[in-house]
Amino acid sequence: MSANNHQHLTEKRAEKGNARAQDALPVRAWFRCYNGCPGEYRLQEVIYRCPTCNGLLEVAHDLEVLKRRPPEYWKTLFDNRYMRTEWPYGSSVWGKKEFVCPTVENRNIVSTYEGGTNLFWAERLGAQIGIEALWVKQCGNSHTGSFKDLGMTVLVSMVKQMQAEGSDIQAVACASTGDTSASLAAYCAVGGMQAIVFLPRNKVSVAQLIQPLAHGALTLSLDTDFDGCMKLVQEVCRKNDVYLANSMNSLRIEGQKTVGIEITQQFDWQVPDVIIIPGGNLGNVSALGNGFLMMRELGMIDRLPRLVCAQAEHANPLYQSYQVGFREFHPIQARKTLANAIQIGDPVSVQKAIDILRRFDGIVEQASEEELAEAAALGNRTGLFNCPHTGVALAALFKLVQRGEIRRDQQVVIISTANGLKFTDFHLGYHERRLEGVSSRYANLPVELPADYEKVREVVLRQCERLRR
Ligand SMILES: *Cc1c(COP(=O)(O)O)cnc(C)c1O
Ligand SMILES: [Zn+2]
Repeated sequence: MSANNHQHLTEKRAEKGNARAQDALPVRAWFRCYNGCPGEYRLQEVIYRCPTCNGLLEVAHDLEVLKRRPPEYWKTLFDNRYMRTEWPYGSSVWGKKEFVCPTVENRNIVSTYEGGTNLFWAERLGAQIGIEALWVKQCGNSHTGSFKDLGMTVLVSMVKQMQAEGSDIQAVACASTGDTSASLAAYCAVGGMQAIVFLPRNKVSVAQLIQPLAHGALTLSLDTDFDGCMKLVQEVCRKNDVYLANSMNSLRIEGQKTVGIEITQQFDWQVPDVIIIPGGNLGNVSALGNGFLMMRELGMIDRLPRLVCAQAEHANPLYQSYQVGFREFHPIQARKTLANAIQIGDPVSVQKAIDILRRFDGIVEQASEEELAEAAALGNRTGLFNCPHTGVALAALFKLVQRGEIRRDQQVVIISTANGLKFTDFHLGYHERRLEGVSSRYANLPVELPADYEKVREVVLRQCERLRR
């Protein structure tokens, strides 16, 4: 291709891709009460709950403005930006800026190129459990190793926008089961802000503790569980110039919502039949649903997937509620689980999650410690490297397939929420058979040998013999 030609193409792409669309459309978003109380609040306002009913807020978008463009327009726009270099649209969150957070000016965006994660075709795992089309959305292949980056880029960018407009926010804080704090700390470091993280002592993995420390966050290790940290951080944020970054702050939900849009995009704008997602505080399952609802509202898709929320049996308040048709919900005291990021007994976003599950023909399934560990290990045998939460989702899949609630010909996507490398203590414990109540069926340990050819040869030949049988 000639240089001229190349330049021409590049220009055409940029033209197709970007600013024109946004400049032309007066896209707009704001906070409103999730329970429907009157009132609109600017996204730059420091407000986490409805002043009238104290309920959660949500971000509303001016859909009438977005509808001025046909569905094909948005698909093409998002496809042209997807994983390209033009900042910030190469990020799959900001590539969908008009749907996410049009309020932030591009120069205030704090991004690490979120999204664009692999949709892994789990062919061998699917075959083993009798599913023809199984996919794993690898959200853990992200800057800090979990899907939390999708939402954190929006929240931290908004803080930067607020500071640019003269706000005196001094720091951004969160309670965390490990991944939120890692993400907040990284984004604050990128944007030059102070992060403060509230962690339950001895309840996060070593990697999860190291991440905020490495990024210079003020790291508070507290003698309580996640729910206790959550109460404290809210009190600190209420009384001081500290901005709250937990998912009760619905800016994060807006970023996380792109995962459903991105999966659909990766299937050439076809909707899969079933999506299984692990749930703790329940922001992510709500976000996943919101992405699909928005696409349907704008005519980009004409059906919704079935959503399955998977919980650890030791932290299963939503599962218990599902058992009674969501007629009641009771917070519980979560018990210790290997899936530490979802060890939450009093989830903030429970109402949003229940509403979403009702609209998506939802199922809630649970997994015991044994089930989640063995499911993660079986997946690892087919080339995945699962975090324990992904293990919970896989275990839920196995149970639903066994019960016939997921059919063999359905197209299933598992949301893998974090990178398995953050949880080496989980994997090592599994293979050393140190996990309580877990039988470690796929345990595999190093064979310790002297550096002696004959002895090594003997072991190798024995393995080859085994494979032939
Ligand atoms: C945060 C997190 C979850 C749970 O997401 P919620 O929005 O709290 O339900 C699941 N897995 C991992 C790895 C997480 O970090
Ligand atoms: Zn209200």
